[in-house]
Amino acid sequence: MFQIVWFKKDLRTVDHPALFEAAKRGPVLPLFIVEPDIWSGPDMSARQWDFARECLTELREDLARLGQPLIVRIGKAVSVLTELRRQTDFKALWSHQETGNGATYERDIKVAAWCAANGVTWNERRQDGVARRLKSRDGWARQWDQFMAQDILSAPNLAPITDIEPGSIPLASEIGLRADHCPGRQSGGRKQSLATFASFLTERGQPYRAAMASPLSAEIHCSRLSPYLTWGTLSMREVTRASIGKQRELKEMRDRSGWRGSMSSFHGRLHWRGHFMQKLEDEPAIEFENFHKAYDGLRPQEPDTARLTAWKNGETGLPFVDACMRALAQTGWMNFRMRAMLVATASYHLWLHWRATGEHLARVFTDYEPGIHWSQMQMQSGTTGINAIRIYNPVKQGYDQDPEGVYVRRWLPELDGVPDSFIHEPWKWGQAGEVLGKVYPFPIIDHLAAAKEARQKVWAVRKGTEFRNEAKRIVHKHGSRKSGIPMRGGDMPTGRKKTKEPEQLSLLDPS
Ligand SMILES: Cc1cc2nc3c(=O)[nH]c(=O)nc-3n(C[C@H](O)[C@H](O)[C@H](O)COP(=O)(O)OP(=O)(O)OC[C@H]3O[C@@H](n4cnc5c(N)ncnc54)[C@H](O)[C@@H]3O)c2cc1C
Repeated sequence: MFQIVWFKKDLRTVDHPALFEAAKRGPVLPLFIVEPDIWSGPDMSARQWDFARECLTELREDLARLGQPLIVRIGKAVSVLTELRRQTDFKALWSHQETGNGATYERDIKVAAWCAANGVTWNERRQDGVARRLKSRDGWARQWDQFMAQDILSAPNLAPITDIEPGSIPLASEIGLRADHCPGRQSGGRKQSLATFASFLTERGQPYRAAMASPLSAEIHCSRLSPYLTWGTLSMREVTRASIGKQRELKEMRDRSGWRGSMSSFHGRLHWRGHFMQKLEDEPAIEFENFHKAYDGLRPQEPDTARLTAWKNGETGLPFVDACMRALAQTGWMNFRMRAMLVATASYHLWLHWRATGEHLARVFTDYEPGIHWSQMQMQSGTTGINAIRIYNPVKQGYDQDPEGVYVRRWLPELDGVPDSFIHEPWKWGQAGEVLGKVYPFPIIDHLAAAKEARQKVWAVRKGTEFRNEAKRIVHKHGSRKSGIPMRGGDMPTGRKKTKEPEQLSLLDPS
C-alpha cells in the first residue's frame, strides 16, 4: 500500500514535512498535477509556469535519485486523483497546507470532499509558518519563531514503484498559456536557489539595508529569493535558520561593516512574509474585496481602459514609473519600494481599482504569492483602513533613487538625449518637443494635482466612529502584535504613533 505526496508550491525534497512523514510510513508516489483550469486564471502567466517547469524538472531528477521520480498529470485535481485511485488504490494523500488564491482554495475544498467520500486520508503539513484556523493573532510571532526553530528535515529515501507512467512536464503552450517573453527572468530550480542564497549570505547581502530602496542597487543586493520561496525550492525554515546563523556569526565577530543591520532587516522581512500570508489564510475574501468596507465603491470597479493600458505598457509619460514597469515586464522582478510606487501611481494618481492592476502585476511577477500580493495591493491603495496612506511622488522617487537617470535610460532608451536634470520631468526641458509626443508620451496626468485629489477622496472616507470601529476590528483580526518588527505603515488604526525600522524612515518620509 503506498501513499501519494502531492507537490504543490513546495518543489523540493529537503525539509519537506509531508514527504518526510509519508516516507516513514511506506512507499510514496510523488505527484504534481498541472491544472489548466487554475493556470487559466487572470493572475497566472506563462513566465510563472516556465519558472515552475524548471523547478519541476530538477525535482523529478532529485526524487529519482532518492528512488522514485515525480509523476506528472494534467487535468483537474479530483479527476487525476480519481484515475490514480482506480489504478492504484492508494489510501493516503499528503501535501503542504497551501494558502493560495481563490481558485486553489476552491480546488482544495473539492479535493477534501473527494477524499472524505473515497475513504482517503488527506494529511496536510505546515511549511510557511502560517497557521490554519487561527483563533487569534496573539502569540502568532512566537509560534512562527518556534516553527522556524525546528530541525531541518533531510530528504528521505524512497522505494521505487513500478508500472506508473511518469508523464511529461508540458510546455506553457501545451496548457493554453499565452506566450510571455521575459528574457531577464530568474532561473528556477533548487540548485539555483541555493546558489542565489549562498551569494546573498556571503557577499551580496552586506549593503542590503541601504541598497534595497533603489532599483539599481536592489537588483544586486536584495536576496532575490522571492520566486524560490514562492515555489518552495527552498523552505522558509532553511532560509530563516541560515539567517539566524549568520546573525549569530556576525555578532560573535563584532562585525561593524553593515552586515548586522542588513541581516536584521532581512530577517524581519521573513517574518513579514508569514504575517501577510496569514492575512489571506484568515480572510480569503481580501483577494477580491476591500479590507475596509468603507472603501467599497470609492474607485470604479471597471477601470479606465486607456489609463490602465498606458500604465501596463509603461507609457504613462512619467519616466521612472514607465522604466520600472518595462523592467518588470522584462525581468519578472522588482524591489519592494518600486512595486509600491507602481501601485500607488495606479491607485491614486490614475485612480484605478487595485483588483485590475493587481491581476496584471500578479502575472508579471515570477514570485506571485497571493497572500503577500493582495495584502500589499490593498495596503498601497489605502483600502485596509489601518495603514498610513502613502502616495509616492513618482518624480521625487525618480530623483531620489535614480538621480542620474541611469535606470530610466536603461529601460527607456528613447529618453537617452534628455539631460540628467530633466530626465524625470522631460516636459520641463526646453527641447521637450523633440521627444514628447514623438518617441515618448506626454504625461497622461498632472501628477501633483492627481495626488492631491486622491488624498482628499481617500481621507474623506476615514472619518467617523463607524470607520474607526471597523478599523479596530481589522487590527484585532490581522494586526501584528510583535512590537520589535513593525510592519510598513504599521498595522494599527491610523493616527496612532508607530515605531520604525531604521531603513523605513525614508520610506515613510512624506513622498
Ligand atoms: C504591491 C506589492 C506586491 C507584492 N507582491 C509580492 C508577491 O507576489 N510575492 C512576493 O514574494 N513578494 C511580494 N511583494 C513583497 C516584496 O516586494 C518582495 O517580496 C521582494 O521585493 C522580493 O525580492 P527579494 O526576494 O529580493 O526580497 P528581500 O528584500 O531579499 O526579502 C526576502 C524575502 O522576504 C519576503 N519579503 C520581503 N519583503 C516583504 C514584504 N514587504 N512583505 C512580505 N514579505 C516580504 C519575501 O519572501 C522575500 O523574498 C509585494 C510588494 C508590493 C508592494
